[in-house]
Amino acid sequence: MSMSTKLRSVFLEVRRAGRKHLLETEAKGILAEYGIPVTRFKLAKSEAEAIKAAEEIGYPVVLKIVSPDVLHKSDVGGVIVGLKDARDVERAYRQVLENVKKHKPEARVVGILVEEMVPASIEVIVGSVRDPQFGPTIMFGIGGIFVEILKDVTLRIAPISERDAREMISEIRAYPLLRGYRNLPPANVDAIVDILVKTSNLVTEYEEIKELDLNPIMVNEKGAKVVDARIILE
Ligand code: ADP
Ligand code: MG
Repeated sequence: MSMSTKLRSVFLEVRRAGRKHLLETEAKGILAEYGIPVTRFKLAKSEAEAIKAAEEIGYPVVLKIVSPDVLHKSDVGGVIVGLKDARDVERAYRQVLENVKKHKPEARVVGILVEEMVPASIEVIVGSVRDPQFGPTIMFGIGGIFVEILKDVTLRIAPISERDAREMISEIRAYPLLRGYRNLPPANVDAIVDILVKTSNLVTEYEEIKELDLNPIMVNEKGAKVVDARIILE
C-alpha cells in the first residue's frame, strides 16, 4: 500500500467511527509514516500486555490513556512517566484507569499506551491550523507547559522551505536556549528543521487535516522526537 493510500485509509476509518480527533496512536502512526520521528509505543489492553510491551520497548517507560473522549490526558491523570520495572507498570496501569474513571467516568477507554521515556530535554512545539483564506499555517515555539505563558511562537503560511524553517527557529526569543546555555547542551536544530518541513508538507498534502499539534517535541543534542501528537480533521 502506498503511503498516501495508507494515510487516507486512516482518515477514512476515523470518519467512519464518527470522530474528528485522531487517537494519539493514529496521529503518531501518520507522523511515522511521513518520516517524522516519534517515540516508540505499543497499545496495551491488559496489565500483562503492558508489561510485555514495556519489556520490548525497554525501561523506563511512560503510560498514557488512549480514549476518544480524552484530549488533554494529564488533566485527567492519564499520563504517568518514569516507570522503571514491571511492578511500576502494573501499578501505573491500574492508576491511570482509576484516575480517568474518577475525572471522566463516561470516557471510553481504547487501551493504554506504553511508550519509551525520552530523557529530560528542551520541549518545543510545532502546530498547524488551516486558515480559511491562507490555507495551512505552520507554527513553532517553546513547548510543554510554557506555551500559553510565554507565547514565544512564530508563524508562517505553509508550505515552508528548509530556509524558512531555520529562520523560524532563530527568531523565537528562546533561541539562545536552543543554541546551548550554561550546562544545557545545544539542541539539534537540523532535527527541528526536518520536523518543521515534513509537517508543513503533511498539512499541505492532506487537506483533510484541519489542526495539528505536536506538543511536546523533545529536543536534545542528538535529535528530536515527537512525544505527543494531536490531529483534528475537517
Ligand atoms: P497531554 O498533553 O495530553 O496531557 P502528553 O503526552 O503531552 O499529554 O504528556 C504530558 C507531559 O508528560 C508531556 O508534556 C511531557 O512533559 C511528559 N511526557 C509525556 N510522554 C513522555 C515521554 N514519552 N517521555 C518523556 N516525557 C513525556
Ligand atoms: Mg501534550
